[in-house]
Amino acid sequence: MNIIGLTGGIGSGKSTIVRQFGDHGVHWVDADDVAREVVEPGMPALAAIADHFGQDILTPEGALDRARLRHIIFEQPEQRAWLESLLHPIIREELIRQLHPADYTLPYVLLVSPLLLETDQHKLVDKVLVVDVPVDIQIARTMARDTNSREQVERIIAAQMPREQRIAKAHAIVDNSQPTEKVAAEVRALHEKFMVDFG
Ligand code: ADP
Repeated sequence: MNIIGLTGGIGSGKSTIVRQFGDHGVHWVDADDVAREVVEPGMPALAAIADHFGQDILTPEGALDRARLRHIIFEQPEQRAWLESLLHPIIREELIRQLHPADYTLPYVLLVSPLLLETDQHKLVDKVLVVDVPVDIQIARTMARDTNSREQVERIIAAQMPREQRIAKAHAIVDNSQPTEKVAAEVRALHEKFMVDFG
């Protein structure tokens, strides 16, 4: 299976564009969704976390208390390391499983991840597709979507890979500063190219 990693900064349009690929029947996996799924109630990773940190790490409903966990690993780097060494292989295995759906006939799938290039998730992919917009558009769209302050959004962007660096690693780029119809036409053309390249 050919795996294309789809990445871009916050608010660049990853979710929007991956749905457009989905309209052409392309299967995709969202790395953030998988990271949440593996710690849902009933999953072995959540039981391991509760064994390690104590039952207080769970909400009364038995879900992971993310705020509490964030606080602990922010204060204690060795606990962050423990958590990462638990979750990293579990997430990786689940990503690989979901990236190979049964009865799938197209020659490629997409892995959507905001941190594809910042983490070793890029090792799972054959090509990198970057969704690109100028930073001012990125800020305006994220503020409109999340009702975050400009300062909050700028802080998140500053913690991510700079635009030029990300573009330098791209095999293909979608310019998402254009109106949605234009972008959809670009996505269709890319899909047709991938079907030929990987077919
Ligand atoms: P990401 O998944 O990269 O964080 P989203 O796909 O959620 O980004 O897009 C961020 C916001 O911008 C959303 O509210 C989305 O509807 C909007 N958006 C995405 N693409 C466009 C576009 N081409 N024109 C206008 N608005 C867009």
